[in-house]
Amino acid sequence: MTSHDAPDPARDVAADDAFAGVVAMDGPSGTGKSTVARRLAVRLGARYLDTGAMYRAATLAVLRSGVAQTDDTAVTAAVAGSRIDISTDPRHPATRLDGEPVDGPIRSAEVTAAVSGVSAIRAVRAHLVAAQRQLIGAGGIVVEGRDIGSVVCPSAAPKIYLTASAETRARRRAGELGAGTDVAAVAADIARRDRLDSSRAASPLAQASDAIEIDTTNLEIDEVVNRLVDIVRRTAPHA
Ligand code: C5P
Repeated sequence: MTSHDAPDPARDVAADDAFAGVVAMDGPSGTGKSTVARRLAVRLGARYLDTGAMYRAATLAVLRSGVAQTDDTAVTAAVAGSRIDISTDPRHPATRLDGEPVDGPIRSAEVTAAVSGVSAIRAVRAHLVAAQRQLIGAGGIVVEGRDIGSVVCPSAAPKIYLTASAETRARRRAGELGAGTDVAAVAADIARRDRLDSSRAASPLAQASDAIEIDTTNLEIDEVVNRLVDIVRRTAPHA
């Protein structure tokens, strides 16, 4: 599993003040996490890692393999036997499965319905967490997910935990899915994934005790990003 890009995004910081650490960005879906994490990475001249895309690509591999989703051993083998490549360029996020671009398929309803089940398997998580740590490497990266500050990179600084009201999250996610999307159905799906992601035994969605919580319900994306840039400048290690 590798990053297939060497990004050089426009920087918001002087060359001698380059961001050298890891920003952990956790929280449930619909909180603005992906957009905020990408924009923050561009502002910092940092790389960006969407760990949710990796769990989604792993789930697509499982669905394509045809193994029973209830067979943890077979599911794990299907994930371990596939190649997932993910770009860490915040301007060009891209995911490939066995060499094929899968940015569309990993957002399909089938993958969204199955991803929390696949993500709950301990061996699948161990496999993907190892790959994530390799991609994080020495740092200079904004990493988004559910367990980044708590499990993948406990030394990250700062750790950010985004929240938003259930209604706002459903509205935002429905907006991403396009006109005519049933907001009530999206709300039910978000609630189902929250329940599964928060209750699983293996690294559940959880706010790290030292994470800074930001409620994005009444904030524009750029307001959140500006706040985070300030926090990073105050708290993060620099090269
Ligand atoms: O972030 P996104 O909504 O694309 O993530 C899809 C799913 O992947 C989540 O609902 C969760 O089940 C799983 N996930 C996870 N750990 C992460 C990132 C995502 O379990 N670090």
